[in-house]
Amino acid sequence: MKKRHLFTPGPVDVPPEVLAAMAEPLIHHRAPDFIPYFKAANEGLKYVFQTRNPVLTFAGSGTAAMEAAVVNTLSPGDRAITVEGGKFGERWTEQCRAYGVEPIVLEVEWGTAISCERIMETLRANPDVKAVFLTLTETSTGVLTDVETICQAIAETDAISVVDAISALGAERCLTDPWQIDIVVAGSQKALMLPPGLAFASISPKAQALVAKSKCPKYYLSFEKALKAFAKDDTPFTPGVSHIRALCVAAKMIRDEGIENVWARHARLGRALREAAVAMGLKVFAKNPSNVVTAIEVPAAIDGEKITKILRDKHGVTIAGGQEQLKGKVFRIATLGWANDLDVVAVIGALDMTLAEMGHSFERGAGLAAAVRALSA
Ligand SMILES: *Cc1c(COP(=O)(O)O)cnc(C)c1O
Repeated sequence: MKKRHLFTPGPVDVPPEVLAAMAEPLIHHRAPDFIPYFKAANEGLKYVFQTRNPVLTFAGSGTAAMEAAVVNTLSPGDRAITVEGGKFGERWTEQCRAYGVEPIVLEVEWGTAISCERIMETLRANPDVKAVFLTLTETSTGVLTDVETICQAIAETDAISVVDAISALGAERCLTDPWQIDIVVAGSQKALMLPPGLAFASISPKAQALVAKSKCPKYYLSFEKALKAFAKDDTPFTPGVSHIRALCVAAKMIRDEGIENVWARHARLGRALREAAVAMGLKVFAKNPSNVVTAIEVPAAIDGEKITKILRDKHGVTIAGGQEQLKGKVFRIATLGWANDLDVVAVIGALDMTLAEMGHSFERGAGLAAAVRALSA
């Protein structure tokens, strides 16, 4: 098999020690053997989330935690604010509508971030709004939103803040408690360096008060059931035993590196990618770019979908194309989780070869030089 490199915003390359934990013989989840793993995983999650609140784990992809956040805090007819500046912001709107919650949709131009002023104006004009749904790093556009400022402002109101940090958690700064975020949701297959299959949600006391009143239908994703079990180091249903054992290893890797260092590493990689792109005559799509995923505009004369195909088939490098209105217009490179300096050099090297093959006119090697310079700074 060809040597492969994943530069996608999930799934990501998983470190060998995490894969090895996935391959351990199964243990039973309702036996004393499992409890230390479950406790260690939960402590690890609290560290990565930077919270003292419970972080619940569900077997499912990240979207399961998003859905859980909607159905456990709201009731049909409730109003909520959603922000649409990309595919994942739209998901909040769709999930609200699916359960009879009425979203007030704030549209922002793709590639830009919502301002705190707009959220707060809308909240003041609609004081019955129960929840504000945000996206820390909008993976479809590569945009970073200032949820720190926004969530601290929301904390002064009766509404709760809910942040999709599925691609951001463990890569981009996200301080759940200091920023007063009521619910942060995440998934296993991004910066947490695990295979897909776990969804996470942290829940503040303010959010728990809404949980008690929420009337949206739910069963498997019930926070009430999960919180009750969590208090006894247990889960209401069979947990992803192997994933949770692997999570213990991944969380320990993050703790050993130190979360501040993990964020700084992602910042260095993101900056190097952006500088390399500019040096190759390319343009970064996002006005306020995240370090998680870099969306790069496809040059006018080039077939965007062919870039990803050549990278994959010729170089074993998987990046992501554009989604929805950005299909064929951008390509996205993620440096998430177990990514290091030389990964950036590898992907920029492969991109140099691919763009040259496709006839893009640029100074060969300039991207590599810029990347190496940024990485050595
Ligand atoms: C990946 C991603 C999701 C979806 O997660 P799934 O695990 O595919 O359900 C949601 N939001 C953001 C920002 C993401 O990057």
